[in-house]
Amino acid sequence: MRLRSRIPFNRPSIVGREFSFIEEAFERGQLSGDGHFTKLCNARIAELAGSHAALLTHSCTAALEMAAILCDLKPGDEVIMPSFTFVSTANAVALRGATPVFVDIDPRSLNVDPERVEAAITSRTKAIFAVHYAGFPADMDRLNAIAQAKGLRVIEDAAQAMGSTYKGRPAGSLGDMAAFSFHETKNIISGEGGALTVNASDLIHRAEIIREKGTDRSRFLRGEVDKYTWVDIGSSFLPGELVAAFLFAQLEQESFIRETRLGLFNRYSDAFADLARRERIALPWHSEDVTGNGHMFYLLMRNIDDRDALIAHLREAGIIAPFHYVPLHSAPGGRRFGRTEGDLEVTQATYARLIRLPLFVTLGSEIDRVIDVTHKWLNIHA
Ligand SMILES: *Cc1c(COP(=O)(O)O)cnc(C)c1O
Repeated sequence: MRLRSRIPFNRPSIVGREFSFIEEAFERGQLSGDGHFTKLCNARIAELAGSHAALLTHSCTAALEMAAILCDLKPGDEVIMPSFTFVSTANAVALRGATPVFVDIDPRSLNVDPERVEAAITSRTKAIFAVHYAGFPADMDRLNAIAQAKGLRVIEDAAQAMGSTYKGRPAGSLGDMAAFSFHETKNIISGEGGALTVNASDLIHRAEIIREKGTDRSRFLRGEVDKYTWVDIGSSFLPGELVAAFLFAQLEQESFIRETRLGLFNRYSDAFADLARRERIALPWHSEDVTGNGHMFYLLMRNIDDRDALIAHLREAGIIAPFHYVPLHSAPGGRRFGRTEGDLEVTQATYARLIRLPLFVTLGSEIDRVIDVTHKWLNIHA
């Protein structure tokens, strides 16, 4: 019997001039950060995100940590966020000694529910961290209106959302700041990597300082001051030029990557549309206000037993399809550092029901096998 090749959940790929740019970075003689390729990346990310300023970081986690510092979070302060997110959204807040307040998500968009956000606001609330799940932007107009009425900052966790839009405006331009990820599991990759876009003009100067170990080195490099010195808290949040060189080659191909992924996303949508119509499963949903970037395709099963059975069945067929976040409010860290507001039924149900299918640029015709195996199982069991 011929062994069928395994289909991973994700496979990172080279899409253009990654290796020649890495060579060029070396030839230019600067491997530390903020050189030629970092500047190119910053400009391109600012353009893609429709933002005033973009600062390359070594991860989205780092960008979220910078955002938390820029929000001036202190012990006792609260930040409202979905429980259905990656641990870094909450850690950034907990690292400042502040309290993540976990609220439920909307059952259709799987993004934070603005009504739940509003209900969770107290006199200690300082900010809202909104996650754009599966690359589909959260309801930012409503969140911004709530924030504006109470004087809160709004941060987009846009880790998954490069290239997506909300009412025609790009993800990354929709809050005071936004954090992107270029981790190898995201659309645009550099192994590890991230960026902070800063839209609130009063925060840009301090963002540069925090990223450069609390010094005004960025102003020094622009010739605005004649020496640089320690002026604020900060850390080393910037990547080296080799990472930036790789990333810039990926950024050049942003539309190719997005369109390829959207093509695969649509293949999955079409293949499962019939089962969704008969309510045997549910598929990704987004409002008319939003365009996605093909970051993720998921199925919502009827219950956790179906979820686990399909995951096991796919694994036996050599296909890796994982579930997603263990809700943060239910995790030991979430109970220790956070507070939960209201019931989180949708979050719990989504954790129990969601399966992510393989989706990456080089998936190609392997998608037929994923669809075939999944479809056959669903027709019998779901
Ligand atoms: C991937 C991800 C992160 C973390 O990104 P890193 O670049 O790995 O630090 C944060 N938030 C969300 C929603 C993510 O999907």
